[in-house]
Amino acid sequence: MLEVVRIPVLNDNYVWLLHDAISGETVAVDPAVAEPVLEAAAARGWTIGQIWNTHWHGDHVGGNAAIKAATGCVITGPAAEAEKIGTLDRTVGEGDTVRIGDHVATVMAVPAHTAGHIAYHLADDQILFVGDTLFAMGCGRLFEGTAAQMFANMARFATLPDDTIVYCAHEYTLSNGRFALGVEPGNAALAARVATVEAARARGEATVPTSIGIERETNIFMRARDVAQLAERRAAKDAA
Ligand code: ZN
Ligand code: FE
Repeated sequence: MLEVVRIPVLNDNYVWLLHDAISGETVAVDPAVAEPVLEAAAARGWTIGQIWNTHWHGDHVGGNAAIKAATGCVITGPAAEAEKIGTLDRTVGEGDTVRIGDHVATVMAVPAHTAGHIAYHLADDQILFVGDTLFAMGCGRLFEGTAAQMFANMARFATLPDDTIVYCAHEYTLSNGRFALGVEPGNAALAARVATVEAARARGEATVPTSIGIERETNIFMRARDVAQLAERRAAKDAA
């Protein structure tokens, strides 16, 4: 069994700690900063042995150097963004695998938010770290890629089992949900989810992780019928 711990940092980022009790290994996924991540690990008696980065943005790699200095951990990230990140020990791309104990994560190339963005899929554990590609009821902005790439990413995620737990890197759920409801006002599952999210946020609670099954029902980007519709929805959300 793997344990996943959510660490809220900066304005709305989530860093994820992944821990394997059998091997005692711990991975920090997209550490925006170092101190709260080191503290969260220490509070549980864990030592961070690896960092997995999804893309080069500072709010995903900002803690790399300090965590490595404190722990000597091995840092893995996208080969296509190695020059931008600068702190990688190991570079990976589509189909490569990384391990925590006996658990295997397969790397998925999911370019669009950034040109070299990757996701980490632990299929046997039904865990997916998506960085800034898929959000609860949303998707990442298209900074370095195209709507066609994001459409392909969404289609690929949608083929994963419904029970796959999706760990995204930001708390954007309420904003995404309110926008989505304007696009699909007749989607009952979406309306119910937005009501639940409104209440959770009013209590100051986090709304991620999510799951592939829930996103298939309520994510207007995953539900877009074609590239043009995804592009139109993304552009409208950017302007909202
Ligand atoms: Zn980003
Ligand atoms: Fe981000």
